[in-house]
Amino acid sequence: MLIRLPGLFDPHVHLREPGGEHKEDFDSGTAAALAGGFTGVLAMPNTQPPLTDGPSLARALDAAQARARCDYGVFLGAGMENASTAATLADRVCGLKLYLDQTFGLLRLDDLGALQAHASSWPRHRPLAAHAEGRSLAAVLFLAAVHDRPIHICHVSRREEVLLIRAAKERGFKVTCEAAPHHLLFTAQDFSHLPAGRREVRPRLNEASDRQALWDNLAVIDCFATDHAPHTTAEKDGDSPPPGFPGLETALGLLWQAVEDGRLTLDGLVQRMDTQARRIFGITASPETSIEVEVGTTWEVHARELQTKCGWTPYEGMRLTARVRRTTLRGRLAFEDGRVLAPPGAGRDLVPGATAAAPR
Ligand SMILES: [Zn+2]
Repeated sequence: MLIRLPGLFDPHVHLREPGGEHKEDFDSGTAAALAGGFTGVLAMPNTQPPLTDGPSLARALDAAQARARCDYGVFLGAGMENASTAATLADRVCGLKLYLDQTFGLLRLDDLGALQAHASSWPRHRPLAAHAEGRSLAAVLFLAAVHDRPIHICHVSRREEVLLIRAAKERGFKVTCEAAPHHLLFTAQDFSHLPAGRREVRPRLNEASDRQALWDNLAVIDCFATDHAPHTTAEKDGDSPPPGFPGLETALGLLWQAVEDGRLTLDGLVQRMDTQARRIFGITASPETSIEVEVGTTWEVHARELQTKCGWTPYEGMRLTARVRRTTLRGRLAFEDGRVLAPPGAGRDLVPGATAAAPR
């Protein structure tokens, strides 16, 4: 059966450009997005160099404009010393990303002074997103509350985290959050057949009780995000494997399992993969943009058939029952039955102020 849904929106992807083009770039990453039914993605700033100032941001925006096949926004990274510069770039990016915990790359805020500087100088009308696990989550929620500003928490994965966000919401904090398919649907044990490096992901895969807590508190989870984080097979199987799973092309098929078994309504899926995700980042849906999804027919995931450049998937051989047949972006067929039709450069910057911003 074919069903039509709005073009999906993913607020958290790593497209690795600049500096990691051997594992992904705006071309291959947005091809993967279209194949997975995503017509808009927000790209993270932990590139090499990280996107922390005008020149590095201009490099990423130029690459995106030249090569992105779907619509996009780009995050700026919060560094130890760039709070005042960051504020001047706020209208050109989809948000500021704060890294409070271990991740891939150089962006990490260990210092309360730097965190305070960003929380006070980043314009209140522009989104602020944080990777904050465990105690860091409490710290960033408190900081946002003190500065009376909205905060979006990335990839919530543990029971105590979703419960803290729930408590914060109940007390009127302006907090939103996302969860990733791999945390919603799998535990560490589920990937025990994979080589150790391929199991590395941040936040880590958890226990069944954490996974259950996400479903028990589904109302707290505003949106889903793939955290598409490609690294090559050589890197994942090497001596110091970097954390991350590719996820754009399997997210809908994986989450469809939850629709089939009744844990998630179709409306709840669409809200979290489209409307609510866009609302958090102030991004309107593109006109004449939709996907057609074949549901109820089984397909098997094979890395060789995927568009991502990284060459592997943790879901190899898995059988899924929803697959994107067609993706239409702004009235044009952008993907059909395994073929990406939108050329590099077809994507547009979704950030409202991007076109009106000062010349780069
Ligand atoms: Zn990430």
